[in-house]
Amino acid sequence: MAAKPAILAVDDDTPVLRAVERDLRARYADEYRIIGAGSGAEALEVVRELTRRGDPVALFVVDQRMPVMTGIELLREALPLQPEAKRVLLTAYADTDVAIRAINEIRLDQYLIKPWDPPDERLYPVVDDLLADWTANVRPPFEGLRLLSGRWAPRGHALRDFLTRNQVPYVWLDPGDEDGRRLADSLDGGADPAVPIVMLSDGIVLRDPANRDVAEAVGLSTRATLPFYDLVIVGAGPAGLAAAVYGASEGLKTLLVEREAPGGQAGTTSRIENYLGFPSGLTGADLARRALAQARRLGSEILSSQEVAAVRRDDPYRTIVIEDGAQVSCQAVVVATGVSYRRLEVPGASQLAGAGVYYGAATTEAILYRDAEVAVIGAGNSAGQAAVHLSRFASRVHLVVRGDDLGAGMSAYLVEQIGAVPTIEVHTGTEIRSLDGTTHLENATFVKAGQEVQVPVAAVFVFIGQQPRTAWLDGMVARDERGFVLTGREVKPAHGWNLDREPALLESSMPGVFVAGDVRHRSIKRIASAVGEGAMAVQLVHQYLASLR
Ligand SMILES: Cc1cc2nc3c(=O)[nH]c(=O)nc-3n(C[C@H](O)[C@H](O)[C@H](O)COP(=O)(O)OP(=O)(O)OC[C@H]3O[C@@H](n4cnc5c(N)ncnc54)[C@H](O)[C@@H]3O)c2cc1C
Repeated sequence: MAAKPAILAVDDDTPVLRAVERDLRARYADEYRIIGAGSGAEALEVVRELTRRGDPVALFVVDQRMPVMTGIELLREALPLQPEAKRVLLTAYADTDVAIRAINEIRLDQYLIKPWDPPDERLYPVVDDLLADWTANVRPPFEGLRLLSGRWAPRGHALRDFLTRNQVPYVWLDPGDEDGRRLADSLDGGADPAVPIVMLSDGIVLRDPANRDVAEAVGLSTRATLPFYDLVIVGAGPAGLAAAVYGASEGLKTLLVEREAPGGQAGTTSRIENYLGFPSGLTGADLARRALAQARRLGSEILSSQEVAAVRRDDPYRTIVIEDGAQVSCQAVVVATGVSYRRLEVPGASQLAGAGVYYGAATTEAILYRDAEVAVIGAGNSAGQAAVHLSRFASRVHLVVRGDDLGAGMSAYLVEQIGAVPTIEVHTGTEIRSLDGTTHLENATFVKAGQEVQVPVAAVFVFIGQQPRTAWLDGMVARDERGFVLTGREVKPAHGWNLDREPALLESSMPGVFVAGDVRHRSIKRIASAVGEGAMAVQLVHQYLASLR
C-alpha cells in the first residue's frame, strides 16, 4: 500500500515546531504523515529520503528565520526534489516583504504570520485549500482509467487533453514502452499506436472512442434531465460558469452545456496572475475545478461533451438544439462560447497537428517535452505564460514573436519573468516558415530579416490569436463581420429587433438571448470581465423574465 503523503513542518524553535506539529496532526493525521524537522539541513535529509522512496511531500510549512539556512533557502533546495509540493512560509511581521518577494521567486503559495492562533481561523482554512489543490493535481498510482495510445497519435493527444481538462484521472501508456506493450499484448487484437484505446476499471474497453463516449463511460452527464429550464447557458468558460453560479444560486433552473471542457481558454492556462483574490496566482485548471464545483453545489446541471448547434425562437420560449439532435426548451439563454485559437497556416502545420503542433495545450503536453527543444509562437500573455511554464520542463524554449518588441502585447510582469529564465530564447522580428517531420514534428524553419534558420524543435505551441466560433448562430442572431455577437446598443432594427423596448446591455438581436464574455462584440478579453459579464447576464435575465409576466 502506498505511504501517506507527507506534510513537513520545519522550525528551529522546538516549542514552536511542536505546536505546529500538534496543530497539523490534530486535523490532518488521518490522511497525511506529519513530519517535523528542527533545521533546514535535517529537513533536506528527510526530503531526500522521501524522494528516494518515491513518497510525495504534499506541503512544506517552513519557518523563514532559521540560522544557517533560511526557510526560503531550504525551499529553493527542496523543491526540485518535490516540485509539486505546496509551500507555506512562517514569518514574523517584519519579514512580510521577504515573503512577498518569495511568491515570485519560489512560487510560495502562502505566508502565515506567527502566531496563527486560533488554528481554526488562521491555519486550517489555508492548509485545507492548499491540500485540496495538491490532491487535485497530483496523481497517485491508481487503478482507474487507462489510455493506451502512441505518443504521436493526434487522437491520443486529443483524448489526453480532454481527460486532463475534464479532471478525469487517468494513466497514459504508450504501446512502444514496456508497460504499454504488456497491456497491448493482453488485449484481443493487440493495439495500433495510431488508434487510442481507453480501458475502464470495470474491464470495459473502448477502441478509438469519441470524447462523448468517454464522457459517458466515466459518468459525466451528457443528456439533460429536464425538458424545460429557466436558463440555458452555452459554454462553460469563466463567463458561462459565472452565469451558472449566479443563475442556480438565484433560484433559476439552470443548464450549462459545454462542448470540450469546463474552464474554456482560462482552463488551459498554466498560471493566472491577475485574478482578484489570488495573490500567488492559480492555475487555470484549479480555477475551472473550483468554479465547476461551485456551480454544481448551487444546483446547476452541467452537460459535458455536447455542442450546441442552433438556437430557435419559439415565442415566448427559446429552444436550444444540441449537435446530437436533442432539443431543450427554456425561457432565456446566455451565449458564452468564447473564442478558439486561430490555426497556423504554414506548410506542415495541419499534418502535424496533435503530433508536435499544439493549440493552447501547453499544460497538458509540457511534461512530455522534458529536456527537449520546443517553440512557442505568439506575443500575447497566453504565449508568455506558456513559455514560462514549458521552461520548467524543456531544455530550451524558442519564443517566436513577429513584432520587434516583446512588451508590445505582453504584460510587464511576464516580460520580466521571461527575461529571468535563461533557457527561454526570444526571437523578435521572426516568423515560422514551415514545419517538418514524418510521424511527428522534428524541425521548424524560422525566418528573420529574410534569413531562414532550421531549428530542431520537437513541439510548437501556437498562440497567434483567436476567433469566435459562432456559425451556429447564423441567421438567428446578429454578429459583426468577424463573427462576434452584437449586443445592447449595437443591435439595430435592421437586425430584426422589433420590440418597443431597447435591447438590454448584454442582449443580442434575439430577445431573451444574452451574451457574455469573449464572444461578445467589443468585450474585454479577460477572465475577470468574462466572470463579471456572466454574473451581469443573469441579472438581465431576471429583468427579462419579469418583463414577460
Ligand atoms: C493561454 C491563455 C492564457 C490566458 N491568461 C489569462 C490571464 O492570465 N488573465 C486573464 O484575465 N485572462 C487570460 N486569458 C484570457 C481569458 O482566458 C479569456 O478572456 C476568458 O477565458 C474568456 O472567457 P469566456 O467564458 O468568455 O470564454 P472561453 O474561456 O473561450 O470559454 C468558452 C467555452 O465555450 C465552449 N463552447 C464554444 N462553443 C460551444 C458550443 N457551440 N456549445 C457548447 N460549448 C461551446 C468552449 O468549449 C469553451 O469552453 C488567457 C487566455 C488564454 C488562451
